[in-house]
Amino acid sequence: IAVGVPRESAPGERRVALVPKVVGRLRAAGLDVVVEPGAGGGALMSDWLYEEAGATLGDPWACEIVVKVAAPTPDEIHRLKPGTVLIGFLGTDVEALSTADVHGFAMEAIPRISRAQSMDALSSQSSVAGYLAALLGAQHLTRFYPMLTTAAGTVPPAKVLVLGAGVAGLQALATARRLGAQTTGYDVRPEVAEQVRSVGAKWLDLGIEAIGEGGYARALTDEERAEQVRRLNEAVIGYDVVITTAQVPGRKAPVLVTGDSVTAMRAGSVVVDLAGESGGNCELSVPGEAVVRHDVTIVAPLNLPAGMPEHASELYARNVQALLELLVDQGKLRLDFSDEIVAAACVTRKES
Ligand code: NAD
Repeated sequence: IAVGVPRESAPGERRVALVPKVVGRLRAAGLDVVVEPGAGGGALMSDWLYEEAGATLGDPWACEIVVKVAAPTPDEIHRLKPGTVLIGFLGTDVEALSTADVHGFAMEAIPRISRAQSMDALSSQSSVAGYLAALLGAQHLTRFYPMLTTAAGTVPPAKVLVLGAGVAGLQALATARRLGAQTTGYDVRPEVAEQVRSVGAKWLDLGIEAIGEGGYARALTDEERAEQVRRLNEAVIGYDVVITTAQVPGRKAPVLVTGDSVTAMRAGSVVVDLAGESGGNCELSVPGEAVVRHDVTIVAPLNLPAGMPEHASELYARNVQALLELLVDQGKLRLDFSDEIVAAACVTRKES
């Protein structure tokens, strides 16, 4: 059977679902790979690299399995044959997929259990986002990250605060620290304090805990939220860069940085809001833009991983490969819905 790799059509999407390195491994596992010409172009992976790895160029939509990064557009769904296995970040609107009679496997629905770690695309892409968030902070800050002692004088290190110390937050902390900033991490899950310290950051304890299910945070009650915002208003003063990554699955992102907090920050400081896609953690964020408010730059990038397309694609492709290995046995599709991972990741199923 063949795996098709279309060219991503979403504006600004530079990632590709399979990279040449992974094509070689899939070929060895008995799969053919059909790549749409130009599919790797955004990540600067040329067609001939794919061919060299054993792929053929052609129509990916005719394949039994189609692998994507972003959710398919209505046009793309139209091109899928009934019974096709479609893999990608499929998003919440799965109605159209089920009408098209395809087996949809959503990368974001892969359960976050140890056995599925190699398929965890949310984590791999969050690492990229966290790394880039730290760099965005450095780029927009009117000051240095590291302490510098020069003939022209000494500058103190920048103070970076990360709100939400999950996968992206920890990567942002580690990256900012490598660039010489003094780092502090905060989360409502106290168990991450240890991880925050392990990347050389201080732990900010505001005395509010909100442990949810499956390793995630739960939403705060109205009272807790008001108290958190009050304490954060005081805490953010004095930080040069505040990076926010707080999410609660299936809900609008919580507001952690209010307009008042921004007003209290020193001129030239930066807020990098990674929750722009789900409404933002900063009250003044404009998703997809960098704006200056009260002399503070507020950056709320969308689809940050697409900004580092080579490694983001490479990690994503490894996640897809691991899932394919679970769905294919000796070159044949074998969908075992009694497997916890297969069952959870499958968001639409062909009526048999
Ligand atoms: P996420 O992107 O959903 O959220 C980011 C962070 O924001 C989380 O740490 C969350 O606790 C925090 N947050 C939510 N509301 C907040 C608030 N009001 N104030 C402050 N912080 C808030 O989460 P994620 O990074 O994708 O994953 C979170 C956790 O899931 C990981 O740290 C880990 O424990 C677990 N996980 C487990 C596995 C695995 O076992 N295979 C894989 C990945 C993640």
